[in-house]
Amino acid sequence: MPEAVQHPPWYVEPNEGESISHYFGRFRRHEAVCVSSPGTLSKAAGIGPVLARWEKFRFNPFPSEKELEAIAKLIGLDVDRIAQMLPPKGEKMKMEPIRLCAACYGEKSYHRLEWQFQSTVGCNSHKLRLLSECPFCKERFAIPALWENGECKKCHAPFRSMAKRQKPY
Ligand SMILES: [Zn+2]
Ligand SMILES: [Zn+2]
Repeated sequence: MPEAVQHPPWYVEPNEGESISHYFGRFRRHEAVCVSSPGTLSKAAGIGPVLARWEKFRFNPFPSEKELEAIAKLIGLDVDRIAQMLPPKGEKMKMEPIRLCAACYGEKSYHRLEWQFQSTVGCNSHKLRLLSECPFCKERFAIPALWENGECKKCHAPFRSMAKRQKPY
C-alpha cells in the first residue's frame, strides 16, 4: 500500500516534462500563493533572486543543491521533482527564442522543457517543427512563466490555434 501523501494547500502538481519556468509561473499564480514576482518567492526561500533567472532558462551558474532544497521545502515538492524540470547534464539550453509545439499544447497546456534544448529540432510525437514566434503576427513568445492564458501576448491568438501553421519535419 502506498503511503497517503499530505500536500500543503499551495501544492501544485508538476506535469510530465514541464519546464521550470512554466511550473513556477503556475505556482506563483496559485490562489494559495499569489506571488507576482519570482524574486519575492526565492527570497522567501532565503536563496536570493535566482528564480527570476531560472524562469528565463538561465542556468549559469547551475542551481545548487542548497538552492533546490530551500525552494523545494518552501513549495512542498521533492528536490528530485524540481531537478526533473531542469536540463539533464550536458544538455545545452536555448534561452531564446521560447519555442512551442502548438499541437502538444492543445493536448496539455504547458511548456515542455525539451522544447528549449538546443538539440531539439521538432516535436517527435507530432513530427512537426517547433514554432519560435507567433505565426500570425510574428511576435516572439513570452517566457513560459507568463503563459497564463496560453495565447500570443500581442495578437492574443490561442497557442492551440497555431498547430495548423506548424511545418512537418
Ligand atoms: Zn507536439
Ligand atoms: Zn501573435
